[in-house]
Amino acid sequence: MADPLSAIPIQELKAFPEGRDWQLDQHLEGLPSLTPVRGRVRAVHRSNVLEVEGEASTIVTLCCDRCLQTFNQALSCRNRELIWLGEASRSDGVDEDVVLESAAQLLDLEADAFTESLDPAGDFDPAHWIFEQLHLLLPVVNHCGELCPGPNLAGPGQGAAGGDAAGAGPIDPRWAALKQLAP
Ligand SMILES: [Zn+2]
Repeated sequence: MADPLSAIPIQELKAFPEGRDWQLDQHLEGLPSLTPVRGRVRAVHRSNVLEVEGEASTIVTLCCDRCLQTFNQALSCRNRELIWLGEASRSDGVDEDVVLESAAQLLDLEADAFTESLDPAGDFDPAHWIFEQLHLLLPVVNHCGELCPGPNLAGPGQGAAGGDAAGAGPIDPRWAALKQLAP
């Protein structure tokens, strides 16, 4: 059974050796989406690290940077991540590198899968985790697709550049010699 989606104190996750599951079917703050974000998140407390795994999808409406028309784009993520539970472990004299490496091996992940750390006395927010995953998928440049009509600015400069080409093109050297003879 999935739990209601809300932030949970990381300490409480210790009580769930199998981890906790959350289902999503809602709009997320900061991510204006056309459809609710649907998916799931699972978090397992592993003493010095929090293993988070989940997937979600939604559709967002973006504005094309070229033609300025809006278009819909599907976002879909599936990710697994280890979050270092920092400070307490550090003060216990735990070597961060050793822990991260062994945890990564255990979970068959690259050691650089650790991109984040959380305060173990703080909360884990599954909705925020999904928000971050989806937010990373937003394109840097919005482009509506291959059928993009392009910038809707038919400026007068376009197409006129070829006007002078006939006179300014390279001259055959033989004609150049003749030209020099001309008065
Ligand atoms: Zn476009």
